[in-house]
Amino acid sequence: MRALTIVQPGVLELQEVEDPTPGNDEVVVEVGACGLCGTDLHLIDGESPLATYPLVPGHEFSGTVVARGNGVEAPALGQRVAVDPNTHCGACRFCRSGRANLCARYAALGVTGPGAFAQFVKARAANSYTIPDALSFGQAALIEPLSCAVLGVRRCGEVLGRRALVVGAGTMGLLIGQLLAAMGASEVAIVDPLRSRLEVAATLGLGPCASSADQLAENFEVAVDATGVPKAIEAAFDAVDRGGTVLVFGVADVKARVSLSPFRIFNDEITVTGSMAVLDSFETAARLMGTGQVKVSPLLGAPFKLDQYGEALTAMRSGTGRGIKTQIAP
Ligand SMILES: [Zn+2]
Ligand SMILES: [Zn+2]
Repeated sequence: MRALTIVQPGVLELQEVEDPTPGNDEVVVEVGACGLCGTDLHLIDGESPLATYPLVPGHEFSGTVVARGNGVEAPALGQRVAVDPNTHCGACRFCRSGRANLCARYAALGVTGPGAFAQFVKARAANSYTIPDALSFGQAALIEPLSCAVLGVRRCGEVLGRRALVVGAGTMGLLIGQLLAAMGASEVAIVDPLRSRLEVAATLGLGPCASSADQLAENFEVAVDATGVPKAIEAAFDAVDRGGTVLVFGVADVKARVSLSPFRIFNDEITVTGSMAVLDSFETAARLMGTGQVKVSPLLGAPFKLDQYGEALTAMRSGTGRGIKTQIAP
């Protein structure tokens, strides 16, 4: 099969590699669509502490089950699935205390092992979720990022009736904004320097929309950074009201630092929290998308082919691609 391989940081090649064969309790999925995300850029640039090279990236994917190993009862052959790429050891103190997403031996397809920028990918059967019939492969490939967003908004605490702000109207900001609205936020303001993204935000019912947080008159009980950019994290912090919560959701560079007022954290009882990957949120995300409570088609354009990966990367890095979410359909 063909697989897009990061040979070493900065060096990408479309290679011919052996087809994967499923082990016990594993399936092989023929990839229907796989999203390109900020994590992939960090991997390509050699900025991920978890990765070993060569590596086939791609962790946001959906497809069809084409082979099953011993012991697999479900999913069936031919079943359309989305896969939770994260795996956990089950034995460390985090796994044993219900926080498997913080697992000491955390692993993920496309990050620590072969991912889905390939024709086929091997996955645990237990991590494979049936895709609601109404969803295309492209839409279903967004179940993984949505499941991260579900965990994120859970970590924001009470949302009902509260005023929320999302900084960044990229894929994650637009998913988080829709979730906050679905959870009963009285308003979901969203800021982004790109007007085209704010137009998509408005069609999804989010607003007020502005190019920066200081153009919004009020303070917010919940503020989410969905960019990972230090200045944006500081803007989210500065916009949060007394007693409020700031969620640092965007993936910042490992070495990045931000400037926050410790006096405000003390005096205004500000909670600053984070959210890592997926925890008991994959099935929830599949349902929210299947019922249309979270809409993703406005985020999608036509997918790129595997051999167009160069164009796909340029589109992603420049933010001027086909749609807000760049995807590859092998
Ligand atoms: Zn991702
Ligand atoms: Zn563990």
